[in-house]
Amino acid sequence: MTKNLFPRVTRSPSCARVLSPSCQRGLRRQMHCLSDSKSISFGFSELGAVAGQGEDWLAKWLERPAALISDAWLERLNGYLHQLKVRVATIGAQSGNTAERVPESFTLPTSSDQSVETKDTRVIYICDDDMLPLEQLKTQLGCFGYEIATFTDPQSLHDAALMRQPDAMIMDIHFPQGSQAGTEVIKKLKRETGHAVPTIFLSARNDFAARLIAVQAGGEAYFHKPARAIELVAMLDALTHQQPEPYRILVIDDEPEMASYHSIILQDAGMVTHQLCEPSSVLEVLQEFRPDMVLMDMYMPACSGLELARLIRQVPDYVSLPIVYLSSEMDRQKQFSAMRVGAEGFLTKPVVPEDLVDAVVIRAERMRTLRSLMVRDSMTGLFNHTTITQMLENAVANAGRNSGVLCFAMIDIDHFKRVNDTYGHPVGDQVIQALARILQQRLRNSDVVGRYGGEEFAVILQDVSVNAAARLIDALRQDFSRILFHAASTDFSCTFSVGLACYTGDSRAEVLCEAADRALYEAKRNGRNGLVVDKQSMEARPT
Ligand code: GH3
Ligand code: MG
Ligand code: MG
Repeated sequence: MTKNLFPRVTRSPSCARVLSPSCQRGLRRQMHCLSDSKSISFGFSELGAVAGQGEDWLAKWLERPAALISDAWLERLNGYLHQLKVRVATIGAQSGNTAERVPESFTLPTSSDQSVETKDTRVIYICDDDMLPLEQLKTQLGCFGYEIATFTDPQSLHDAALMRQPDAMIMDIHFPQGSQAGTEVIKKLKRETGHAVPTIFLSARNDFAARLIAVQAGGEAYFHKPARAIELVAMLDALTHQQPEPYRILVIDDEPEMASYHSIILQDAGMVTHQLCEPSSVLEVLQEFRPDMVLMDMYMPACSGLELARLIRQVPDYVSLPIVYLSSEMDRQKQFSAMRVGAEGFLTKPVVPEDLVDAVVIRAERMRTLRSLMVRDSMTGLFNHTTITQMLENAVANAGRNSGVLCFAMIDIDHFKRVNDTYGHPVGDQVIQALARILQQRLRNSDVVGRYGGEEFAVILQDVSVNAAARLIDALRQDFSRILFHAASTDFSCTFSVGLACYTGDSRAEVLCEAADRALYEAKRNGRNGLVVDKQSMEARPT
């Protein structure tokens, strides 16, 4: 088992000299998972220390503009992998059961983990020989959380892309070097690296011939100049969107081998699984693992699958959680009575792997959609009022038990009624969506953002000081004010005001909410476009 955990990495002759952004993120995340407090809390401090060094080294390497994969780099990576393998072997020898114990502690962090890592920044290269629009685009797209590098000639974009591959490119078509210099470079890059980076073409021309050249060069989209940043952002989001979170499946079976077998089939299809062989801890596991679906054996020594399904259904939070039985029971009558408690399906063992995957994906997908409809605002995709209020209550309860460090921000767009009155409701909607997009993209993974009401937003920031929270949100305020929105005949910008409050030790979420609201009104009274921290909550906060 340990032999395969950290295999040596070699380079095939056709392997690119640069690491794609998703590989970079993956590698860094893996090192981070091993180095974080989990390894230490499982008593694997030496393993955590090696992975921590590996993570620091990777982070420094990735910061360099020319992050090339050299032979020396590969040697260094393999050095870390070797050290990790040695540490794992030591742990395995100490525990006496390497195969079972080691991988368990390596589960990837889930979205319930309150890690403070920031979101992955996506890198965009823009090439245009016209400096002014180039700089404007850089500023605007930067406000939305993209990392932008600009180039004025296609060749320098080409050289940079070989050094560090971007997540997407925006390329002008017309250059002094020739009318097809931009498209030629994109085609050349694809030939050299073996794959295409999503590319948007920009052009002053809007005719068929120009558009055809772009399509033939593999362009994913075509924008007629002047391109609007907001529209480009929507396209870039679509082209560089991150993989949705894998489905989370709880596999309950009293036979560990069966549970492992079915888990592996689901994992191979990209899902995250948790195996449970002892039904008595099902409630704790459901709460911690938050599955999208439960796959359950029918016959277990402690209780039957039917009883367990009934027990789960009696908890209000799990009334709609899909449960599918997986059993060798062939008696149709018994299958039907097992389904009567509200189970979603019955699969008979031995199951064909593809059938198992299909059955699970369909139900997990439906669960995700239902959940999303219940908890999210349809226009912005942010948490809705009910959900963010509930989350604030949970966060306040947590703060009481744990660190006691919690901030809450209320954000309200300034003079928004005027925007609607002047430019129309659909343009107003664009402003709301842009702000939602910025909040979602620029805040940390551990922060929770909701649409509190029409043009009001709420942000819960955990484990962060008031000063740090104020700096974070104030930077967003400044960036938001730089964004240009477009109405039929004109461009305009908007601002917002923020009220920030911190947890005072009072267990009522309303108290924190009122404090943030008070600060927001003060920010409005102060002339808007500003941030105010509630003084009362600052003075009363726990030390
Ligand atoms: P202040 O600076 O004091 O916050 O002024 P304001 O004009 O932003 O505040 P007010 O509460 O008077 O107006 C908010 C407006 O937001 C009124 C409402 O029509 C509009 N609104 C609410 N929800 C939506 C929405 O989903 N889309 C659009 N376009 N407008 C909305
Ligand atoms: Mg308002
Ligand atoms: Mg307002």
